[in-house]
This record gives sequence, structure tokens and C-alpha cells, in this order.
Amino acid sequence: MSKIVLIGANHAGTAAANTILDNYPEHQVVIFDANSNISYLGCGTALYIGGQIDGTEGLFYSSKENFEAKKAVVHMETSVNRIDFEGKTVYALDKNGGELTETYDRLIIATGSLPITPNIKGIDTPRVECVKLFQDGQKIFELLGQSDIRTVAVVGAGYIGVEIVEAVRRRGKKPLLFEALSTSLASYYDDWFTHDMDKVLSDNGVELHYGELVQEIEGSGKVTGIVTNKGSYQVDMVIMAIGFKPNNSLAAKELETLPNGAYRVNLKQETGRSGVYAIGDCASVYSNALQDRAYIALATNAVRSGIVAGHNAAGTPLEGAGVQGSNGICIWGYKMVSTGLNLEAAKKAGFTPSYTQFEDMQKPAFIKEDNNRVKIRIVYDKNTRRVLGAQMASYQDISMGIHLFSLAIEEKLTIDRLALLDIFFLPHFNQPYNYITMAALSAK
Ligand SMILES: Cc1cc2nc3c(=O)[nH]c(=O)nc-3n(C[C@H](O)[C@H](O)[C@H](O)COP(=O)(O)OP(=O)(O)OC[C@H]3O[C@@H](n4cnc5c(N)ncnc54)[C@H](O)[C@@H]3O)c2cc1C
Repeated sequence: MSKIVLIGANHAGTAAANTILDNYPEHQVVIFDANSNISYLGCGTALYIGGQIDGTEGLFYSSKENFEAKKAVVHMETSVNRIDFEGKTVYALDKNGGELTETYDRLIIATGSLPITPNIKGIDTPRVECVKLFQDGQKIFELLGQSDIRTVAVVGAGYIGVEIVEAVRRRGKKPLLFEALSTSLASYYDDWFTHDMDKVLSDNGVELHYGELVQEIEGSGKVTGIVTNKGSYQVDMVIMAIGFKPNNSLAAKELETLPNGAYRVNLKQETGRSGVYAIGDCASVYSNALQDRAYIALATNAVRSGIVAGHNAAGTPLEGAGVQGSNGICIWGYKMVSTGLNLEAAKKAGFTPSYTQFEDMQKPAFIKEDNNRVKIRIVYDKNTRRVLGAQMASYQDISMGIHLFSLAIEEKLTIDRLALLDIFFLPHFNQPYNYITMAALSAK
């Protein structure tokens, strides 16, 4: 029997804990989490804030009680503040200031990520909020219920900022979306797609301020305005959504990290220290598109890395398959999904990328209902013809199609392998000349 200590019990930690508790009851598991809840689905935050779901109950899929029923020892609202790697001991402080000490045989660090907050004047003004924890969502939900909040600045047009402006609008407030780049979602999609999303946003009442860098937040006691390099705007609240950084304060000096601070791990989630694993948003992933380590903070990656670390920490060697960063977004019904690298990202990574694309109806024209236009672009490397990424968009639910490309990237397939892939046809679902086939066939 070994004692496995887990620091952090959100998606990554929960997956690791369940893997060990369900498969290796012989091990003792001790869990620390600084927060009061476990397994919060942040992906539901915008739906909750926007009033699109009934309540928050369904946003959690595990709890302290679940772990305790499986015989784990769980310390909630208890923050680990030091790790003695030589002495294999962690030191923690509970919410009442009580000190706890725990030794370990194996240690899994799952401390996640923290929202990036820019160092600008006024950032600490009341009604400047970030979006990370369940408690952040609750606070924003309540603030949007106040009648003196009419105009809301959302800073950052990544997937969280874009989801939040929809939620703000759904609550009857006026959202202004600020972004330093020239489109939304630039990390995941090419202009051909982001321009569609930007039209969806502005058609639905979001004021877009792209190419603007936020420099100051005005107001004393509460927010009254926001200042960018291009102008000043009266707003009653600011929601910051400019990204996340790995929460590495416990071991940034003792463990090797990527340049952004994510703990560097191998495919077994092992850090350089024997018996110490790092998982989820605090750790690196292996990108099959880049064929290198990268930082991609997603719940899906967190869960998979937790499962891998759980097995390894419990004694069964297991290597993860790497990731593609597959993601999706749905704004006012417009759906976009992507995997791997978009054109810009592929160029930045040093590839010589090319792309092939196609646009068509999902089903034959004689199908009059539930039949929408679909766009697809596949990015591949001109030299090796290896598939590097794919993007799809439609009002149709085309999301399952992207998994094919995820596997193609993982398996290092060339674009030519997709051209004659056996894709079924039935008018209820698709067309005989499927857009995936058509895009792949027309690759130069
Ligand atoms: C609004 C929002 C929407 C999102 N939507 C999606 C989506 O649609 N799809 C998707 O795949 N991903 C999504 N994500 C990303 C996803 O939520 C994260 O990738 C995921 O939460 C990472 O899980 P994690 O367990 O690694 O880290 P975290 O969720 O950051 O959890 C870390 C845990 O560690 C605890 N902790 C930290 N330090 C200590 C310490 N010193 N001692 C004890 N405990 C500690 C924290 O309390 C926390 O519970 C979204 C994120 C947000 C904020």
C-alpha cells in the first residue's frame, strides 16, 4: 500500500482520485483543495450567467462525500502552502488557520490555472470581475441582476469572453467586447470562420472593439469607465477574460517548467522528480500537431491527464496519447469546432502550411428541414502533407465530425489519406459528395 497525496481536486484532480479509488482500493488517497467545491464545470458558467440553465446544481459531478465514500481523506478549504520534496511532506493551512502536515509516497499536483490580470490602473476597482471559479460566476450572475449595471465591458475575445458577451446580452445588458487582435477566437480559427462569429456577435447587439488595448479602468468605489489606446467608454462593470496561466507557485523552483511556467511532464505525467506527477492546467501537454510540448488549458486535457497520472501513481505504467486541443463553441446557435493548428498557428510553429476548404449544405437540397450551410477547412503541411488542423462551422450540429480530424492528427495521417475515406451517405444526415471528402479531394 502507498499513500498518494493529491493537491487540487477540480477536473484533473477528480479524474486522478477516481482512477485510483475505483481501481486500486489498496492505496490510501489524501486530497487537499483550497476551494469549497469540487469538479465545477466552468464550461457552464456562461449558460448559468445568461440564464439559459435552471440552476447550478448540475454543474458539479463530484463532491467531498463521493470521495469519502470511496475511503479517501479529503481536506476542503485547505491550501497546501509548501512541499518538502526531500522529506516527501506537504504542509497546508485550513480555513481556520489550522496547520496540517501530510507525508506521501507519491504526489500528484493538480493546482490548475489562474486568470491572467493585466497590471493596469483601476484593475482592483469593485465590479471588475474575472471568470474562473464557481464563486466568480455567482458574483457576476448577481451583479447582472442589478438595475444600475447597464453596460458591461468584456475584455478578451477568446472563447470565454465570447461566451460571456452572449450571456451579458441575454441578461438585457449592453456588452462591449474589447480585444487587442483584429478578430475573436484568433487562437483557434482562421478569419474565414472568425468573421462569421463576429457577425453573429454584432447582429445580436454586441459592440465590437477589436484592435484596442485596454489601458485603464475608471471609477472609485465602482467601475464607471474603461480606457483603451483608441478611446474612453462609459461602462458599469468589467469582466476580464484574457486567458489563464499555470498555478505553479508551489513548485516552480523545484520542478522544470515550460517558458510560461507549466510544469514540464512526460507522457506518464511524471515531472523530473521521482514519484511526483503534475496534471491538468498546471502542467504541459504533448501536442501531436506540433510534435512538441505545449500549454493547452482545457478540461478535456485535464481529465485525461488525471486518468494517466492516477494509473501511473498507483503502479500501472500508462502513457497518454498526446492532445490536439480539440474545442468547440456555440454562440446564439452558431457552432464552431476545431482541432490542431489553424493556419496562423501552423505558420508560427514553423510549418509551411497550406489549406483546403469547402462549403456546402449539410444535406441534399431536397431536404427542407434542419439543413444548414457548413464550412470546413483542413490545414496541412505542404512538405509532408500531414494534417495539422481542421475547423468547421455551421448552425447545424457538425461537432462530431471534428473528432475524425483529431484522430487523423494523432495518427499523423496525410491529407491524401482522407480523400478516399469511407464516409457513409444518407440524405437524413449528409450528402453523397460529403464536404469532408470534397475538401480533402481538392487539396493541391
Ligand atoms: C469560464 C470557463 C469556461 C470553460 N469552458 C471549457 C470548455 O467548454 N471545455 C473545456 O475543455 N474546458 C473549459 N474550460 C477550461 C477548464 O475549466 C480547465 O481547463 C479545467 O478547469 C482545468 O482543470 P484543473 O483541475 O487542471 O484545474 P482547475 O480547474 O484550475 O482546478 C485546480 C484546483 O486546485 C485547487 N488548488 C490550487 N492551488 C491549491 C493549493 N495550493 N492547495 C490546495 N488546492 C489548490 C483549486 O482550488 C482548484 O480546485 C473553461 C474554463 C473556464 C474558466
